[in-house]
Amino acid sequence: MAEITRDVLIIGAGAAGLTAANDLRKAGLSVAVLEARDRVGGRLWTDVIEGAMLEIGGQWVSPDQDALKDAIEELGLETYSRFREGESVYVGPDGQSHRFTGEMFPVAPATEAVIAEITERLDAMVAEIDPDRPWAHPKAEEWDTVTWDAWLRQQTDDDEAVRNLAFATGTAMLTKPTHSFSLLQSLLMASSAGSYSNLVDADFILDKRVVGGLQQVPLRLAERLGDDVLLNQPVRSLEWGANGVTATTDDLTVSARYAILAHAPVLYSRISFVPPLPRRQHQMHQHLSMGFVIKVHAVYETPFWREQGLSGTAFSPYELVHEAYDNTNHGDERGTLVGFVSDANADGVFELSAEERKERILESLSHYYGDGAKNTVVYYESDWGSEEWTRGAYAASFDMGGLHRYGADLRTPVGPIHFACSDLAGAGYQHVDGAIRMGHLAAANIVDAIRDAGPTEGGD
Ligand SMILES: Cc1cc2nc3c(=O)[nH]c(=O)nc-3n(C[C@H](O)[C@H](O)[C@H](O)COP(=O)(O)OP(=O)(O)OC[C@H]3O[C@@H](n4cnc5c(N)ncnc54)[C@H](O)[C@@H]3O)c2cc1C
Repeated sequence: MAEITRDVLIIGAGAAGLTAANDLRKAGLSVAVLEARDRVGGRLWTDVIEGAMLEIGGQWVSPDQDALKDAIEELGLETYSRFREGESVYVGPDGQSHRFTGEMFPVAPATEAVIAEITERLDAMVAEIDPDRPWAHPKAEEWDTVTWDAWLRQQTDDDEAVRNLAFATGTAMLTKPTHSFSLLQSLLMASSAGSYSNLVDADFILDKRVVGGLQQVPLRLAERLGDDVLLNQPVRSLEWGANGVTATTDDLTVSARYAILAHAPVLYSRISFVPPLPRRQHQMHQHLSMGFVIKVHAVYETPFWREQGLSGTAFSPYELVHEAYDNTNHGDERGTLVGFVSDANADGVFELSAEERKERILESLSHYYGDGAKNTVVYYESDWGSEEWTRGAYAASFDMGGLHRYGADLRTPVGPIHFACSDLAGAGYQHVDGAIRMGHLAAANIVDAIRDAGPTEGGD
């Protein structure tokens, strides 16, 4: 068993962990990043499948994501805009596809008025919330003990309005059934993107992509750390106390003054803590769970929908594939669509054979783009639910009542153990931007703590 010593050990080589490690290095501290997988990036993973470059994990960048934008610029990466010229498609309760342009999709005028009115109300509520402290809102408890679906249904009995309003933070973002999380959790999701209106605006939230793929952010961050990033090192146990921490993997022991747990909170319990974490963390971590969504990649000889005057943007709360977009790579002659199948629908299609699932999913895509959608040259499903070191997608959120009950303790260090992950973020919550913010924060807190404690021995 090899033994190494560093100032700080970081568990997880995703965007959060690698950001923290780089900051700590810049502050003159030694680091080791222990990564369970045989690659860096975690939920950022750009790969070539049957000759097509696919963003298996996160990919989009939105204008308010300053931490991510700064990282992209600092790492010398280039961005490009999502294709969005032409008409979008909405499939209504009648199962018919309707083309539209602009922000408002085609529903009856009365439904449109209800959606506009409730959106305004939601924007006002979101404006009152500090995304970094949603539990501090005077109505936090009230809003955390009503489900998102129930609250919407208290506002209107227009089912189409409810489904469309619920969809933005539910199916499309937290990727959980809308009866399983609270109004407060939904407001946090919206607040983390600036407003509810921002979150429903695909041109805002899905604005840009990185040429060559977003995984280059963690890849380039890792390059700077060289041999201090150790792959295939799942941390099995973490001893901690006043004198620091010792992490043990299958073939390595790393001692340090501080540790950062930089992975999804649902995986904390995979590590044996010695002594156990405090009661509060034991309880709190059980109330966080991952959402679940299948990201479907469909590659075609050409972006055929563009010839039909379609932008590729399509959605429907009534469809198996609830949203889909033109995801053609920069400079690629072929056309790529990306679609999403969320929560209970994802459970349902995983009951089917791979062939039947593909057929059902392409059938749904054909409702937006016509039968041409069935003629893929490459078809691939990102299934993060099967990934041992992630266990769902996109990220973790609290169950009913959990956010106001535990939220304030989410990021609080336990002795020498600090926490950083997109799933703990306020601004940028559940996004790469949030992961980077949390990486910066954990590193800054450790630098402060080390400065306050005075010098001790460190390094190899
Ligand atoms: C399909 C999909 C689409 C998404 N789309 C977008 C998008 O378009 N835009 C956006 O901003 N965000 C998107 N996201 C979310 C975004 O990818 C994540 O929020 C972000 O990458 C999380 O970064 P992280 O560093 O916090 O955690 P992770 O990326 O999960 O990294 C944690 C790392 O820790 C490792 N690890 C876990 N346990 C251990 C252990 N015991 N020992 C050692 N290592 C361990 C894991 O292997 C992993 O590499 C998407 C996510 C998915 C899955």
